[in-house]
Amino acid sequence: MTATATDSTSRQAWAEEVRRLAEERDAVILAHNYQRPEIQDVAHHTGDSLALSRLAAQVEARTIVFCGVHFMAETAKILAPEKTVLLPDPNAGCSLADTITAEDVRAWKAEHPGAVVVAYVNTTAAVKAETDICCTSSNAADVIRSIPEDREILFLPDQFLGAHVKRVTGRENIHVWMGECHVHAGIDGHTLRERVDSEPDAEVYVHPECGCATSALYLVGSGAVPQERVKVLSTGGMLDAAERTDAAKVLIATETGMLHQLRNANGTTQFEAVNDRAECHYMKMIDPEKLLNSLRNGTTEITVDADVSERARRSVERMVSIGSPSRGGE
Ligand code: SF4
Repeated sequence: MTATATDSTSRQAWAEEVRRLAEERDAVILAHNYQRPEIQDVAHHTGDSLALSRLAAQVEARTIVFCGVHFMAETAKILAPEKTVLLPDPNAGCSLADTITAEDVRAWKAEHPGAVVVAYVNTTAAVKAETDICCTSSNAADVIRSIPEDREILFLPDQFLGAHVKRVTGRENIHVWMGECHVHAGIDGHTLRERVDSEPDAEVYVHPECGCATSALYLVGSGAVPQERVKVLSTGGMLDAAERTDAAKVLIATETGMLHQLRNANGTTQFEAVNDRAECHYMKMIDPEKLLNSLRNGTTEITVDADVSERARRSVERMVSIGSPSRGGE
C-alpha cells in the first residue's frame, strides 16, 4: 500500500471511530469554519460561532462536542444549559476575547453611566454577563441602529469591527475598545494592497475584523479598486457569496481554515488567502487525537456559573432577535 493510501485508510478508520463514539455517547460534533479540514469533514455540522451556538440549542443529542475555542463552547452552554458541552482542548482560547475582562467592562461602564454596552460574540461568558446586547459581524450595524440615537454606546472588544460599524452607521457617540485578534490584525492594508495589485481580476472578500478592512474600504473609496470587487462579509456571508460568484479567482482576507468551506461550496472558482500565514493556532489545537479522546473520556466539560449564564443569555438572546445573524459571527 502506498503512503497516501495508508494515510487515507487510517484517516477513514479514525473518522469511523469518531462517528461510532459520537453515537455511543449521544453526541453531536460541531466544528467552526476555522478548524482543521479533517475536523470539519468529520463533524455533523460546520459553521460560524453563532450558527453553531443556535444549533447547539436545537439539536436533540445530550452531549455537544464543540470543535472551536473556549468562548464558543461557553456560548453553546449558555444557550443549552441542560446539555453537556465538551471542548476537546480546554486551552483553545482567543486572543481577542482575552483583551477584555468583566472587571474592565464594569470600570468602563462606570466612566460612561447610561451607555449601552454592545459586545461582539468573541467574549467570555463573564463579559457577556456585563453586556446589554451581543452582536455578530453581520448584524452589528443593525444592533447599533436599534439603540436610540441619543444613547452613548460602548462597543467591544474589536477595534476594527468597531471602526467598521461606526463608518456604516455614521454614528459618532460610539466608544470602541481597542482590542484586536492577532490573526486578523496580521492581514494588514499593505499585504492586501500587494495582493490586490498582483491579481487585478480577482474579487476580494474581507472579514470586518481584519486589520485590512479599513484599507479595503479606502482602496474602494479612492477608486483604486472597483467597488464591485471588494466585499466586506462575515464568514457566513462569504459562503453565500462563494456559492453565487462566477469569478475565476477570489482573494480571502480571514483565517485560512475558511478556504476549506469555500472550496467545498464552489469547485470552479479559485479561492486564495490574502495572507496564507493567517492561521489561528488556538483553532488548530483541536486535532484528530484530541477529538477522539474527548469522545472516549468526556473531556473537557465546559461549565458556566448559573448567575453569569442567566445574565449572559439575555444579551445573547437580544442578538439573536436582531438582524439576520444565522450565518454571521466570526
Ligand atoms: S482567529 Fe482570532 S478571533 Fe478567532 S478564535 Fe483565533 S484568536 Fe480568536
